[in-house]
Amino acid sequence: MSFTQKILVAMGAGIVVGAIFSIVGAPLAPVSAVLIDGVLDAVGRIFVVLLQMIVVPLVLVSVVCGVASLGDLRTLGRVGLKSVGLFLLTTAVALVIALTLARVVSPGAGFELAGDVAYESQPPPALTDVFVNMFPANPIRALADGQMLQIIVFALLLGFAINLSGEAGRRVGAVFSDLNEVVMKLVTIVIRTAPVGVFALVATTFAAQGLDLFRPLAGYAIVLVLGLLLHVSLAYTLILRFARLSPIGFLTKMRAVLMFAFSTASSGATLPLTLATVRKRLGVGDSVASFSVPLGATINMDGTAIMLGVATVFIGNVYGIDLSFGDYLAVVLTATLASIGTAAVPSAGLIMIALVLGQVGLPVEGIALIIGIDRLLDMLRTAVNVCGDGAVACFVAQSEGVLDRATFDDPAAALDTVARPATAGAAQ
Ligand code: ASP
Repeated sequence: MSFTQKILVAMGAGIVVGAIFSIVGAPLAPVSAVLIDGVLDAVGRIFVVLLQMIVVPLVLVSVVCGVASLGDLRTLGRVGLKSVGLFLLTTAVALVIALTLARVVSPGAGFELAGDVAYESQPPPALTDVFVNMFPANPIRALADGQMLQIIVFALLLGFAINLSGEAGRRVGAVFSDLNEVVMKLVTIVIRTAPVGVFALVATTFAAQGLDLFRPLAGYAIVLVLGLLLHVSLAYTLILRFARLSPIGFLTKMRAVLMFAFSTASSGATLPLTLATVRKRLGVGDSVASFSVPLGATINMDGTAIMLGVATVFIGNVYGIDLSFGDYLAVVLTATLASIGTAAVPSAGLIMIALVLGQVGLPVEGIALIIGIDRLLDMLRTAVNVCGDGAVACFVAQSEGVLDRATFDDPAAALDTVARPATAGAAQ
């Protein structure tokens, strides 16, 4: 079986096992306590911890190598501008799609508010802090705390310095380049455990999330899913078409990444696989991939933006508060920035809704309405988030002339390298 098939089987089996426990309920409680809440919960958590373990060294080493290998700072500026520009543009488009769809379908109109709706709001960060916090006062602390944006900024500067340091820079650069190979090998080793980890994560999630929760919120969930699908089929297809690349070829190769993102609900945890896939299977040159993909995983969250847009309209409808055109514009702006500040971990988007709701004067308690079903929707939006990172990386690489067309077009390119650590040269 190929790696993608294994992940697919693991995910399918996880859904079935989880759904059985959720549907049968009480009679299976003793088994569930041992199997779901015990063994599978532990296995799933270990898997996520292993992924988190490799993300910090991976981002540091790959961004330093990417910058050091660019040689010329102008190229980096161009790649950076194109990537960030496209991340912002696709996010704004995602919001326009979400708001238009939500406005037309109007989910939540006529929704009966049952009793008190209470939500302990966690304060969202101030928007200026999102930018100021990009800069690390202490790089070691940034690494220890896993502050991705700070790590990226530090790695960028370190890469520059290596570039400008002549002979000493070349020596340090060579060390980083060797480290890069070793870290990528570590990635392949961890990712090899993915089928087991994915099964455990999906089974525990589906066992805990009764599908009954969805019924009263079906309108919200359906509009959100439609928005996600539309965005992938419109925005990413267009970007890839502009770059004269096949969207179907792209999605086929991204399948394992999307399933991985779905299972972990974390762009950060998916990053090692996203990076390996974009480099090895889609042929994106290292100079673009090693910079664009980690940055995208951290700041590019189109799926989250769609959720923020739909949730805002839904909560407005439930409370019978009409949003003006100006409010919609404010939502596009705030939610684009909020999605940048969203951490690449499960449920991070929920915290950011408070920011958008506050901006347009909607009650923050409204978040309580959608919390119950957020986990499953988080899985879907995370898949869209990582899909966007891949599409933008392909576009930027193609426009910079560093996309290996033969690799992109070859369906078997580097097939399974990420799942076979023993293979020489895997995922370099
Ligand atoms: N789970 C999402 C991600 O990691 C963030 C969110 O909650 O929207 O991409």
